[in-house]
Amino acid sequence: MTADDGRLRLTVLGCSSAVPHPASPAAGFLLDWGTTAILLDVGQGIVRRLEAVMDPRDLAAVIVGHMHADHYLDLAGLRYIYPWGERAPVRLPLHLPPGGTRRMDALAEAISERVGFFDAAYDIREYDPDAALEVGPLTVRFRRGRHYIPAWAMSVEGPDGARLVYTGDTGPSDAMVDFARDADLLLVEAGLRSTADDDPERGHLTPEEAIELATAAKARSTLLVHYAPARRAELEAMCAAASVRVEPAVAGLVRTVIRREETVGAG
Ligand SMILES: [Zn+2]
Ligand SMILES: [Zn+2]
Repeated sequence: MTADDGRLRLTVLGCSSAVPHPASPAAGFLLDWGTTAILLDVGQGIVRRLEAVMDPRDLAAVIVGHMHADHYLDLAGLRYIYPWGERAPVRLPLHLPPGGTRRMDALAEAISERVGFFDAAYDIREYDPDAALEVGPLTVRFRRGRHYIPAWAMSVEGPDGARLVYTGDTGPSDAMVDFARDADLLLVEAGLRSTADDDPERGHLTPEEAIELATAAKARSTLLVHYAPARRAELEAMCAAASVRVEPAVAGLVRTVIRREETVGAG
């Protein structure tokens, strides 16, 4: 974690939807600044990808945007890296949305483990979505998405002002456009094939809507995430026709997040 000291750097560990696919795990985005690394979401398949790039026990924080399987279920797998019986010497700081603690207790029971199973390994806290969360040099902020259950988008800002925004799961939302405004790097979900596939009360975006959101927010650069990997070529064509800088994310992609002002005049 030294190649880009003093820069906010993204590693896409997984960017698929909930449907399993060999090309990518579900949601998981690693961000680091120097020696501080945080993980946004822990969907199915993320932990093995994480282990390939770092020791998960060195994470400064794991932050979950909402409690759907494709955003947190690999916390069950990650737990077994820690001692099974006793409390871990250093627990992993785990930040969950309001009500998340109860879900972890239910998950422990569902996998036939004891009450407190996760607490022995994770220092579990529920964040206040209206407050900023400081993790080392990084500042994390939240915004409620438009989803079937309470779900939060996250923005992560480095000490140089570089800012990444990750929408999490959301339907079309003016509040999300506002939250993503002028992001240096925007990760926007593009999970729907068609609006006809969504509930009447919207909870996801089509790629077209995702590109519209990025355009309206004037994001400097955008990655589409939370899409079925089989659609990648189709999404690439849509992105190529867009008037903004946007492309589908792929697992393994690494991107340094550059603050907007630094590139003004640089074309
Ligand atoms: Zn969801
Ligand atoms: Zn999802």
